[in-house]
Amino acid sequence: MRNRRFTVILMCLLLLQTWSCDDSYSVFSNRYHVFYRCDASQPPFNAACSMGVFISVRQSGQNLVVTDMDGHESRYPMSEVDARSFHFGLAGIVIGTPALDNPDCAVYAFDLGCPVCDRSSKRIVLNSTGVAECPDCHTTFDLNNNGFVLASERSDARPLYRYPVSRSGSQIVVSN
Ligand SMILES: [Zn+2]
Repeated sequence: MRNRRFTVILMCLLLLQTWSCDDSYSVFSNRYHVFYRCDASQPPFNAACSMGVFISVRQSGQNLVVTDMDGHESRYPMSEVDARSFHFGLAGIVIGTPALDNPDCAVYAFDLGCPVCDRSSKRIVLNSTGVAECPDCHTTFDLNNNGFVLASERSDARPLYRYPVSRSGSQIVVSN
């Protein structure tokens, strides 16, 4: 009888552990809502499909601001529909094609917001080698390697928020 009770308690504990594991781990972040769509056959978005190239996209008023790895900024007016339907996560979206361990040339998407500072005003800055740095906490992230932390003075540093990407013809859709 005592053995049976012990077995039941053990099974409950195991179940609890399995549930908590399922809840706590995902490659993709659901912390901030993202919905964004662009035509990857058109510049400047086509650049994001080249190996090792990343661009950032964010909303500023009624404009879409696209920044390349050299820091060049382009502004495009957003349609009423796009302005209503698009959601840019915490601070905007980084899209691009990691050069490492990516044989299918898959497009990846990350949040432009620093996950350590976790505020919409703290945007990471990309450089031409695919390293992104937060100007505030100086944590560096590797865009070519899942947005993992390269260096940080903060003990609570974590990888960039990553979002699912789907392709439909020339359209790239980032959505969680
Ligand atoms: Zn930061």
